[in-house]
Amino acid sequence: MARQTLSLRRRLRKLLRAAGGGVTRYMGNHPLVAGMAGTVVALAMAGLTLLTLAMGRADALDHARQTSQNLVAIISSDLERNVEIYDLSLRSMVDGARVAAASTLPIGVRRAMLFDRATTAAYLGGAYVIGPTGAVILSQSDEIDAGVRLADRDYFLAHQRNPDVGLFFSHPFHSRLRDGQLTIGLTRRIDDASGAFAGVALLAIRIEYFQHLLDRIDTGELGSVFIVMQDGTLLARKPFFPRDIGSSMAKLPTFVTMAERNAGSYVADSTIDGVRRIYTFARVPGTPLIAAVAPAVDEVLAPWWHRSRIAGAATLTLGAVFVMVSWLLAFALRDKQRAQAALLRLAATDPLTGLSNRRVLDSRLDEEWRRARRSGRPLSVLFIDVDHFKQFNDTYGHACGDEALSAVAECIAATVRRSIDVVARYGGEEFAVVLPETAAEGAHSVAEKIRRKVQGLHVVQSDGENIAVTVSIGCATCVPAEGENAFDLLAAADRQLYAAKTGGRNRICSAQWTARSMAQDSSA
Ligand code: GH3
Ligand code: MG
Ligand code: MG
Repeated sequence: MARQTLSLRRRLRKLLRAAGGGVTRYMGNHPLVAGMAGTVVALAMAGLTLLTLAMGRADALDHARQTSQNLVAIISSDLERNVEIYDLSLRSMVDGARVAAASTLPIGVRRAMLFDRATTAAYLGGAYVIGPTGAVILSQSDEIDAGVRLADRDYFLAHQRNPDVGLFFSHPFHSRLRDGQLTIGLTRRIDDASGAFAGVALLAIRIEYFQHLLDRIDTGELGSVFIVMQDGTLLARKPFFPRDIGSSMAKLPTFVTMAERNAGSYVADSTIDGVRRIYTFARVPGTPLIAAVAPAVDEVLAPWWHRSRIAGAATLTLGAVFVMVSWLLAFALRDKQRAQAALLRLAATDPLTGLSNRRVLDSRLDEEWRRARRSGRPLSVLFIDVDHFKQFNDTYGHACGDEALSAVAECIAATVRRSIDVVARYGGEEFAVVLPETAAEGAHSVAEKIRRKVQGLHVVQSDGENIAVTVSIGCATCVPAEGENAFDLLAAADRQLYAAKTGGRNRICSAQWTARSMAQDSSA
């Protein structure tokens, strides 16, 4: 078992090494891929961070909405419960006022009969029974200003005109009974025995009640929370500005959206102070009121912003470093690749003529030999030697000899143009050409073109004199067979070159046998 695990581990390591080697090789061949891969990874990381931040922002806004909904629900239930209690008091006031015999009772008894304990609650400005003329008939407290008339109040007119109004919420008014205190009236109509209008039962709620409800809610420095009537009359607001209470929001765009639905949430810029807020609102059941909580977007998103800035800066910095390192690596790899390619070129090239050198010739000849043996197609080799070159050097100097060699090399390279052909400097003033898939006639024709071209060549000396150069060429062609090798073919070409030299130079000699027969021929 242990041995199995060991061999598995060894195999895994080998696999990883092979994969690593593959990646390294690929990077070596495509150096800029490292930079691009680094950039893509950094961009993907930045994208992921952005996505996470965007989700965090949406979460923060959702959370704020949720909290606001809860606050609206708390305000709403508080209002609803209190209105319910006040309505019970109003009903008992109405019932008490309708008892005809009650008017004959002493005032203290009547008070005790009409006003229950709820009417003494905090923030209640007072409980009153108003007669059909608008005069206050009975008050929960002792003092009544007999001169006060309330027939012009909206609640009075509403009940007077319509017996079916039920529980009525008045608009805020400055109380005539209590030194102009800002109040809203909660009223019910009192009918007499025949159903005719006999007055109004009024509970005066001090506007502070609503304000007190909102004071407990923390909406930050820029947030806002308010209670507004369905027709847009503002009852209470935090932050509190006395002049706003009782004013109409009906025309404000923030209110228009609110008036259209029972409950909801939306983001809008306040027309009053320009602050962008998330408005969450709901109608208070059983009342004409709307409760709204509106935290400022900037404050809601402040912690998220703080986190985002840190995460963004860290991602940007790390991403930039990652991209930089990737590209530095990519450029280093590219430079290394270029240097390697230059070295390889240098190692394969003859410095004087720019042709392939002997090492390349040997390996390519062997390669082509094996290919020809597989394909059964002929392979030709030309061996080219400059005639009387020693004499040339002795006459015109070594520098001129170098020039002549370069010119001859150019001639050969210009004649042999197929990409599969190999032109190499064999050494000294000797060149070799490998012509794959070329029969003897073809090789001879190429050799003849080279010979003619070189013959037509004029190496210009420093004093302007033209010097002619000629070459002798030995050609050998064969279809490689088992047991022979490429160097036999080269040797055969060399023998043909010798023949060309002895035959008078500036000529071509060819042989076309199998390499074995050529070797036998030479030994014969
Ligand atoms: P043959 O016609 O029989 O080939 O006579 P040859 O003089 O060309 O032959 P030999 O082998 O006697 O001389 C070759 C000469 O080529 C010797 C050397 O001076 C010259 N040579 C070899 N390499 C270079 C080279 O790189 N530059 C120059 N300028 N001459 C070279
Ligand atoms: Mg020679
Ligand atoms: Mg020579």
